[in-house]
Amino acid sequence: MEAVASIFQSRFKILAYHSVVPVSRSRYEIASEVFEKQMDCLFSAGYRAISLKDALSSMQSGCVDSKSVVITFDDGYKALVDHAFPVLSRRGWPATVFVPVAHIGGQYESSALMNWDDINEAVKKGIAFGSHTMNHRNLLELNDEDLQNELAESRRILASELGLSFHPLAYPYGYFDRRVADAAKASGYDLALTFGSILSNTSRTNPFEMKREQVLCSTTQKAFSRKVDVRYDLQRKLWHMIIPER
Ligand SMILES: [Zn+2]
Repeated sequence: MEAVASIFQSRFKILAYHSVVPVSRSRYEIASEVFEKQMDCLFSAGYRAISLKDALSSMQSGCVDSKSVVITFDDGYKALVDHAFPVLSRRGWPATVFVPVAHIGGQYESSALMNWDDINEAVKKGIAFGSHTMNHRNLLELNDEDLQNELAESRRILASELGLSFHPLAYPYGYFDRRVADAAKASGYDLALTFGSILSNTSRTNPFEMKREQVLCSTTQKAFSRKVDVRYDLQRKLWHMIIPER
């Protein structure tokens, strides 16, 4: 029984959000009221948010705490400034935002993205940034030269603009294979995040294949509680082999 307990204790979750807005219009947008409720739910269940950098150190030292959770946002939507960051700030919780660097200050799927001023302000409030490549292309479809450019150039620009010493990457759409992961490592990233698997991260997880649980507009409060709770991993994995997760 003790062995089973230690399996659960040495796992942790990374949550993947996209945008947080007053009223959701798509599956990737969470209503601000719902986001606040989810953060309250984490807090009252005894979780605390830690940075990706601390999560990687814990993984590498083998001291992973299943009551730690990492919060991430993909694409760098401007709406986060007013609707997500203040909620995190109130708790003093860190988060990491992954930006497609060529689109900073522009739009993605007709929603405004943060500009450099927004990003610099957010950094002052404890929000970290990472690369979501330059152009948010499917990395599996790129030749070696384009792949290298998407990875190395975005890392270089973020490092020089923000003075970063820690370099995380989120694969666009979560798509990666061995070639892409090797290129990310060779480009100087510290870790890379994907989606898709229900099982948590452990001290044995490859840092270039770190898994995230997507939180979508359709995620109910009950489903959310189970996504962060490592004790439901096996049950959910088996269930979603029959019914794919939506
Ligand atoms: Zn994305």
